[in-house]
Amino acid sequence: MSSMNGSVIPVDDGSSLLVRLLPSFRRMSTSERAPTPAMQRYLEVKSQYPHAALLFRMGDFYELFYEDAVTVSKVVGLTLTSRDKGSTNPIPMAGFPYHQLDGYLQKLVRAGFRVAICEQMEDPKLAKGPVKRDVTRVVTPGTLTEDALLDPRESNFLACVFPTQKSCGLAWLEVSTGRFFTTDLPLESVADEIARINPAECLVPEQIQNTSLFQELTHLIGVLLSERPAWSFSPDQCKRRLLEQFQTRTLSGFDIDEETPGITAAGALLEYVQETQKSGLGHITRLEPYRRGSSLLIDETTRRSLELTQTLRDNQRAGSLLAVIDETVTPMGARLLTEWLSNPLTDLVLINRRLDAVEELTADALFARELRDQLQESYDLQRLTARIATGRCSPRDLSCLAKTLALLPKIKAKLAGRQSALLIDLEQRLDLCAQIRLDIEEVLVDEPPMLVTDGGMIRDGYQAQLDEWRDLARGGKEWIARYQAEEIARTGIPNLKVGFNRVFGYYLECTAAQAERVPQDYIRKQTLKNQERFITPQLKEYEEKVLRAENQAVQLEQELFVKLRDRVAIVSPQLRENAEILAEVDVLGGLATLAVRAGYCRPEITLESILDIREARHPVLDRLQPSGAFVPNDVRIGRGPTRGADFQVGFLVTNDTPMTPSTDSGLRSPVAGRETSEGMPFGLIQLITGPNMAGKSTYIRQAALLTVMAQMGSFIPAKSAKIGVADRIFARVGASDELGKGQSTFMVEMTETARILNTATARSLVILDEIGRGTSTYDGISLAWSITEYLHDVIGCRTLFATHYHELTQLAETMSECVNWNVAVKEEAEDVIFLHKIVPGSADKSYGIHVAQLAGVPRKVLERAKVILQTLESDHLDEMGQTKIPARCTQPKREHQRSLFELEEHPLIGELRDMKINELTPLAALQQLHRMHEQLN
Ligand code: ADP
Repeated sequence: MSSMNGSVIPVDDGSSLLVRLLPSFRRMSTSERAPTPAMQRYLEVKSQYPHAALLFRMGDFYELFYEDAVTVSKVVGLTLTSRDKGSTNPIPMAGFPYHQLDGYLQKLVRAGFRVAICEQMEDPKLAKGPVKRDVTRVVTPGTLTEDALLDPRESNFLACVFPTQKSCGLAWLEVSTGRFFTTDLPLESVADEIARINPAECLVPEQIQNTSLFQELTHLIGVLLSERPAWSFSPDQCKRRLLEQFQTRTLSGFDIDEETPGITAAGALLEYVQETQKSGLGHITRLEPYRRGSSLLIDETTRRSLELTQTLRDNQRAGSLLAVIDETVTPMGARLLTEWLSNPLTDLVLINRRLDAVEELTADALFARELRDQLQESYDLQRLTARIATGRCSPRDLSCLAKTLALLPKIKAKLAGRQSALLIDLEQRLDLCAQIRLDIEEVLVDEPPMLVTDGGMIRDGYQAQLDEWRDLARGGKEWIARYQAEEIARTGIPNLKVGFNRVFGYYLECTAAQAERVPQDYIRKQTLKNQERFITPQLKEYEEKVLRAENQAVQLEQELFVKLRDRVAIVSPQLRENAEILAEVDVLGGLATLAVRAGYCRPEITLESILDIREARHPVLDRLQPSGAFVPNDVRIGRGPTRGADFQVGFLVTNDTPMTPSTDSGLRSPVAGRETSEGMPFGLIQLITGPNMAGKSTYIRQAALLTVMAQMGSFIPAKSAKIGVADRIFARVGASDELGKGQSTFMVEMTETARILNTATARSLVILDEIGRGTSTYDGISLAWSITEYLHDVIGCRTLFATHYHELTQLAETMSECVNWNVAVKEEAEDVIFLHKIVPGSADKSYGIHVAQLAGVPRKVLERAKVILQTLESDHLDEMGQTKIPARCTQPKREHQRSLFELEEHPLIGELRDMKINELTPLAALQQLHRMHEQLN
């Protein structure tokens, strides 16, 4: 779905069917003549759907009129024409052929339109009086069901929030599959949950405008907000609506408390879906309670900063964690994987259940491959089932269903006799639905058409009556072929042939030149430029027989198809369950394949507050960088035997610290290059210092990402890992993307920090990157200092804190659970090499000027910065106790010692020096000057 950040749809009258880009509908003009009955109907319908783009079916076209035509033609690139061209006030009009509906719907919905589709409700040929037309559905981003409009690998949810004084009800539904959930949650968690669900559209009560919740929701990316009138949220009515839908007397069977705002949200959502879909909601058969406590809580900011399902920069799937771990082979598997990644588990048993299954699949490569080969053949059973249950399926859908069901015996057989509880359970739950598959295979031809109206979908020999009509129709056709040959012989016109068109059926056709030779009994029907067309009584007699037989056959085929479809619909609950099983097998198989391909290990999951990961890699960078280029690092967090302050002494000062080989002579950290981190320090709070670009953020993000992966049941990119289950993960990393909210960087940073300090528990994992950057240095340091103390003393949760404030490294001296780590760099004659290796101890230099140089900051600025840095480092204070910035030199000193970052002389300077000016002609000199000038620019 394209980004529709912050789009809000205004409140409508009773129908509440609105569209963002068509704020009002006003008839531009009326032609002076009374409108035709069709236009009169158009105006009636349009008045019912003033804020939707109305697609009005006229014959083989969908037409738009008036303002709709003007706006829509621009957005989707239709030609704007007009109706009643001759009149003084022609009506603007644009349209497209009916079979292009899907393509245009997709463009319109992506552009943020709501589209009302008004169909012809009867065959124009049979209509007595004006053709009946009615809106059959309203298409909105959150209510799509057409495969052509949906991304097969992404869910498309519609959500609804209903805030009350105490809490907020939330419900969400995927119309294309019928999955429907509800929950109640604290107001402050609503935006986080919506971000997790990532719906295409979210319904909100109109009265919540001007609330902070509304503001938060408008900032969610890709979520179109649709306001609904207050009366839609009447608790009684909402509950009644749900009971009617599920045909139950109570909702307690779903393990749901009926008197909650979540139920009201679910009812209001259902009303909207009924209003827009008009029919076919038979697949919505249950409402599932969602319990937040059972999954790892990840707030919206953290979710986005960790780039779990989309990238921060451009909200794309490519480049996200999801994209690199997705090895699924079915669309339903891909969607389930997104769900698992968005909802990692917290229950140790459930996590291990998944890990056991993944492990079993990794251990038997052949088993995994064969299973995946089978799955790859299957169609999207979830969406197929929804179309079947709603009566929207095509003959081809049923045939795809049968082909998918035909795979089940093999899949079940493969899963049989497995060891892990999850695979055993999936095997047992898989229902072969053999009878329904046989039914479909018996009734339908192998490759049935897309449309029911096309005919030709029922197998010959299935039904005697159908066979009879078909024979008649075929026989008639044979007769016609014979008739053509006889007539050629009779008339002596060699190119005489029988043709057919929809207006006057079968005819005989010959060239104009031959027309003289036709017999008396030919009745002239049509004269074309070079052809003449005739009919004969005999031809008409047979035509009637053929057409009647054909029509009857098609009608009977349709009846037989509907019967079959209804029979299949009865087993839709089993089909749906099967779809979920296949999706799960696919996800597990995908995770196993990933684990083998990318060299992952099974994490040991524990309830201890620990992260002990050896040779951890960042899952995304590891896959994107050339193989072996990513430098693995150990993550060691937890209450450990080696205490921070002791460790400082032990590692940084003692002489027996292993030094690196001679080639690494410039290494800034004494332990870099060690093969193992045995004996390295644990501590709950890890402070990571090091220059910019060294790899601090990558390291702390990787710790969070691996925790998320482990808790979703995946293997992780590391050599070995022990991971303590976290209840929440917080990432406060970078703030530039938040500026759009109109808050200062610092305000955003502090708001997020406040949230962490107020909600983190001892079981949480917190990663912080450069806290306090948005304010003055002293403010920043003081805040970062006290935040760390609070995390250490009050919350006591695992924390990774990357900072360039070296002052903070002193914290390790006073806090027992705080340890310093830094990122090793190697200084070589004139250069600095980032080793991306995390080693114990604190960094002693920041190399900022070097990074500035890499970024292309002008040489003059760098020189000046170096001078200032030297002064600052020698801590010159003036009389007022302020750091004294040395006076600006007009010329950087040339004779200063060649420093680490001495810039190389520009090659043009050498060239100038060597230039023999006396030997150059004025023109040659000018040319040289010009070339050099070009080179510099
Ligand atoms: P910092 O947060 O210290 O400024 P980053 O984590 O943003 O640094 O890393 C800077 C760049 O270094 C990254 O874009 C990445 O390409 C590279 N990098 C970081 N860590 C590693 C690693 N362990 N191995 C290889 N390259 C890395």
